[in-house]
Amino acid sequence: LLSVRNLTVSFPSLHLLPPAVRNVSFDVGREKVGIIGESGSGKSTTGRAIMRLHPPKTRITADRMEFAGRDLLSLPEREMRAIRGHRISMILQDPKYSLNPVMTVGEQIAETAILHERLNRREARQRAMEMMEKVHIRDPKRVMGLYPHEISGGMGQRIMISMMLIAKPALIIADEPTSALDVSVRQQVLSILDELVTGNEMGLIFISHDLNLVRSFCDRVLIMYAGRVVEELRACDLDQARHPYTRGLLEALPN
Ligand code: ATP
Ligand code: MG
Repeated sequence: LLSVRNLTVSFPSLHLLPPAVRNVSFDVGREKVGIIGESGSGKSTTGRAIMRLHPPKTRITADRMEFAGRDLLSLPEREMRAIRGHRISMILQDPKYSLNPVMTVGEQIAETAILHERLNRREARQRAMEMMEKVHIRDPKRVMGLYPHEISGGMGQRIMISMMLIAKPALIIADEPTSALDVSVRQQVLSILDELVTGNEMGLIFISHDLNLVRSFCDRVLIMYAGRVVEELRACDLDQARHPYTRGLLEALPN
């Protein structure tokens, strides 16, 4: 589905420093791929580079960055926008940036339903309510009328997931999608995400700090350290990790 070779990203203000992402290579099929790494290791930058959502003047190079057979780096912006709308979706670390600040969340979910399911306004509102219930938002009727700045981070992440349940992109990039959720809601949201990805044969890139979570949730894990992918393992083989950063994480886990 996605094939990345030697992706390198440098920010203009930091040209004297090493690139934020350095020669990163990986593939994502119809599976769940976790990316873990400490703060600042380049996880979000990698995710945003795939979507081409980087600030202007960012230098981004790759030998290959192919999605469904198309080269994402050379794609005209207009076509990239279509891909972002339909084929690849990202749940940003702060979901408020993914939502439109001047539209209520209900309107935004309904828009998605109108676009992707060709529903009329009334049906789309109904669908938005159903999807909000599905992601365990209590009192969806009230939440529908709120603007993004009026909802919490965890609520925003669930709103984003409810839109993906409708849009069904081929690839989801989820940047710490459950970090703002309490444990019980987290479990519910993870199982919805799992159902969505597995049931529709999508690919998922799941960015997280939480080794245990990634180990139980994902099929494969990339470990990033200082802008590089230092290790790539099947989730079931994580115990065999060799890199000192990964070993440190494993040793820090309570037994
Ligand atoms: P976290 O776990 O804290 O989310 P991360 O692994 O997602 O960390 P990134 O956000 O990808 O890390 O950042 C990687 C590096 O790039 C950091 O050194 C950061 O300071 C730098 N960086 C990120 N975004 C920008 C930007 N817009 N301009 C300049 N530097 C940036
Ligand atoms: Mg990040």
